[in-house]
Amino acid sequence: MPEENHIKKAAKIIQDGGLVAFPTETVYGLGANALDPDAVIKIFEAKQRPSFDPLIVHICDIKDISRLCLNVDERVYKLAKRFWPGPLTIVLPKKKIVPDIVTSGLSTVAIRMPANDVALQLIDKAGCPIAAPSANKFGKLSPTKAEHVMKQLSDVDFIIDGGKTTVGIESTVISLSNAGFKILRPGVITEEEIEFIIPRDNSNNINEAGLASPGLLKSHYSPTKPMCIFNDGDYYPESKKIGYLAFQKSKSALNYTKSEILSEKGDLKEAALNLFGALHRLEDSDVDMIVAEPVPEVGIGVAIMDRLRKASYIESEKY
Ligand code: AMP
Ligand code: MG
Repeated sequence: MPEENHIKKAAKIIQDGGLVAFPTETVYGLGANALDPDAVIKIFEAKQRPSFDPLIVHICDIKDISRLCLNVDERVYKLAKRFWPGPLTIVLPKKKIVPDIVTSGLSTVAIRMPANDVALQLIDKAGCPIAAPSANKFGKLSPTKAEHVMKQLSDVDFIIDGGKTTVGIESTVISLSNAGFKILRPGVITEEEIEFIIPRDNSNNINEAGLASPGLLKSHYSPTKPMCIFNDGDYYPESKKIGYLAFQKSKSALNYTKSEILSEKGDLKEAALNLFGALHRLEDSDVDMIVAEPVPEVGIGVAIMDRLRKASYIESEKY
């Protein structure tokens, strides 16, 4: 836990319109006062994030939902009771108080309460909701340690070092229609777990479900080295130094210049937690390319495969 005066200092910077990188349970966030458009614009500049990609607003009190959002029904409170604080982001119609720059001009806002004491204290002490995307350059590997933030971002007023994050991949993002919820971005909270609380929208009604999620691009979370997903029978030239990202302990991992094992025992939750740290180490090593073993696409594996496909999208388009 960082010293209390670090959180105090960071809260003052947020109040004064500055940028603070801080830990959440998912990845490190780059935060600014969500109600101050001049502060929020600095996030887009520091990350080189396109203005069409809306931000998630982080809150520390359930009461903030109705302060920021319209049409908040019973389902939202049911979800909040079950999953908050935690890695579930809910997209809801926004009130005027939320500046357009936060939502990229959309009439909806994405909102969540993070399960990290430093983040919650920071929001509380700053006295405002905090808009925060991941604290990395747009499209690059997400940060799960303060060092990952330092590696990529220079225009940050202060970084709170809260150690390694505990979930390791970004939150599950859902939209709500009258019929139920739809997953916009998979995360460690799975569709099945949410369906246990509220119904799923099985329609293809894009408008009502608010399916358009402008930030969900095919290429994202990419290392600076070329990356691809391993297919059985794939062959890599011997002249190339390969960094292998293995799901679990296996003999094949030994055949490569460098290898990283996401979870020795093949546990998907542990694999999600270790994913970005392992990719950062491979990116920083002397390998020429990264080859990732696919993980079973069930439960949390859906979110891991989503990240691996996006991270390797640029290479996959070449063949
Ligand atoms: P990040 O902040 O990088 O974790 O990304 C947040 C993602 O949530 C964005 O890239 C969007 O895809 C999604 N998102 C945020 N706000 C909205 C919204 N109002 N409607 C739909 N999707 C959203
Ligand atoms: Mg991000």
